[in-house]
Amino acid sequence: MSDTQPMISLRQVCKRYPGTTNDAVMPLDMDIGKGEFVVLVGPSGCGKTTTLRMINRLVEPTSGEIWIDDVDVTRSEPDDLRRHIGYVIQQVGLIPHMTIEQNVGLVPRMLGWPKARIKERSSELLELVGLDPDKHARRYPKQLSGGQQQRVGVARALAADPPIMLMDEPFGAIDPVTRERLQEEFLRLQERIKKTIVFVTHDIDEALKLGDRIAIFAEGSRLAQFATPLEILTHPADDFVRSFIGEGAAIRRLALLRVGDLDLTPDSIDGAVPVDRVHTVAQALERALQANAAGVDVPGVGPVSVQSLMLATAVARLTDQVSR
Ligand code: ADP
Ligand code: MG
Repeated sequence: MSDTQPMISLRQVCKRYPGTTNDAVMPLDMDIGKGEFVVLVGPSGCGKTTTLRMINRLVEPTSGEIWIDDVDVTRSEPDDLRRHIGYVIQQVGLIPHMTIEQNVGLVPRMLGWPKARIKERSSELLELVGLDPDKHARRYPKQLSGGQQQRVGVARALAADPPIMLMDEPFGAIDPVTRERLQEEFLRLQERIKKTIVFVTHDIDEALKLGDRIAIFAEGSRLAQFATPLEILTHPADDFVRSFIGEGAAIRRLALLRVGDLDLTPDSIDGAVPVDRVHTVAQALERALQANAAGVDVPGVGPVSVQSLMLATAVARLTDQVSR
């Protein structure tokens, strides 16, 4: 990200809560590029939520500066700032007596959009997050499952098309199967919307799966490493990172390879099964296997045989040129 101007820049940002003797976040420097998906990960209490909430000033920094696109946010009007930054939390925070449509339209209504435009935008967003507007727009939050509510939370955060999304353990309270599906859907969504995302989790596997870069916080808000998943898995900065990523790092690295990361050329085969660019190689191979097909159909490439897919994977591993 060094070649472009950062979208979000934290400069010596520090937070000490009143009446406490230690910094919740000690002076932190971090640059986040435009369209980058950055994950903050670390054990409970290490300052992830505090860091995130300082970016939209739900928490006031004790010292330091936070720049968004040339604006020092510590000097801007907090309400205005929050309307231009989407925020998604684990508790979702949908308003119970408002319909799904009204919940999604919350920020546009505050911004004074005309009614028809809000309605149109709500439908568009519900579709975007995989909910049928005809079926769900008029319902109330409690009539939806946890996973569906979380999708509405994402739709609501996207309503005014903010360039930045802050997400605090958004999939934390969801069962593992739904969670995995939401993670994949969200990756696919991000390929289209290209937001600058800061995402908090305590789950290293979720971080490795989602992040372009991962910031690993240690106890006492020390930033142990800020790097790509591949760099972290291959060159952990210290013993803390090594123990945090745990065993089987090399295998997990393989599991990270996505179809879209590979250098592929089309083959002349029939009956390839469609896959997505965000699918991992393992998922793509499994699809081909299940369909008893000779290969997979990759968007932007065309049909690719199972052999070519495996060869490209081996090449990517050997040359270590996988960039996420
Ligand atoms: P994380 O999200 O990584 O679990 P937090 O940012 O919530 O961590 O908390 C970091 C530290 O700040 C913790 O020690 C926590 O107890 C403390 N803390 C968080 N919020 C407050 C608060 N409002 N007042 C005092 N201390 C707080
Ligand atoms: Mg937290």
